[in-house]
Amino acid sequence: MTKETMNTIPDIIIAIDGYSATGKSTLAKLIAAEFGFTYLDSGAMYRAVTLHAMESGFVKGEAIDADALLADLTKNGLDINFGEGNRAFIGSRCIEKEIRSMEVSSHVSPVAALAFVRAFVDEKLHEWGRRGRVVMDGRDIGTAVFPDAQLKLFVTASDQVRAQRRYDELIEKGQPSSMEDVMKNLKERDYIDSHRETNPLRQAKDAFVLDNSDMNLHEELVWVKGLVMGRFQLFEAI
Ligand code: C5P
Repeated sequence: MTKETMNTIPDIIIAIDGYSATGKSTLAKLIAAEFGFTYLDSGAMYRAVTLHAMESGFVKGEAIDADALLADLTKNGLDINFGEGNRAFIGSRCIEKEIRSMEVSSHVSPVAALAFVRAFVDEKLHEWGRRGRVVMDGRDIGTAVFPDAQLKLFVTASDQVRAQRRYDELIEKGQPSSMEDVMKNLKERDYIDSHRETNPLRQAKDAFVLDNSDMNLHEELVWVKGLVMGRFQLFEAI
């Protein structure tokens, strides 16, 4: 897409929600690159808080010391930021590898269900999303974080396809796991994410549903471009 064409797209927020491992972030990154938008990975924020809680000794087995985590975040904050290639950092330490591990995946949903953790992350997301031209992916972006987002997508895929994608991703990152463990983790996270009290995962009423079980990334991008053209009456092919 040429720069002039990119500039015809208004300063909107594109919210992409859906279950775990539906390929939301891969699609979001592609849209951001194609439209010249900023990509924001809200899941990485929750993963970073979870890693910090684990390393600080606030997570013991299944139990989370929520009081200690709240006191720590209130007193010290947590400098989560993103570097080149959307890699996540705490301060100057790159945590990209650690936050994608199965250990963090297995604790992130209970941590993300804590209302004060959500408020902490939401504040940062609002700050970053303020100027628009942002693609943000997560579980509650279109319903709670940016309910006025001008374009909302809800991404789904079959359980088998999702588990296979996450399994391949872990192998590629040199963190192999069993297919059984991956599937179990996805199901657990889906359940907790959609049953928590604060801002559970829901399809926004005005979201467009994209089932990408049998689609490749190029087809997904073409579909999204079609939506953007229709929604904003852009007549030039983008
Ligand atoms: O997107 P990703 O799988 O990296 O997200 C990790 C976890 O963070 C999710 O399973 C969910 O528990 C939490 N999350 C959330 N709200 C968001 C994004 C992620 O609760 N907007």
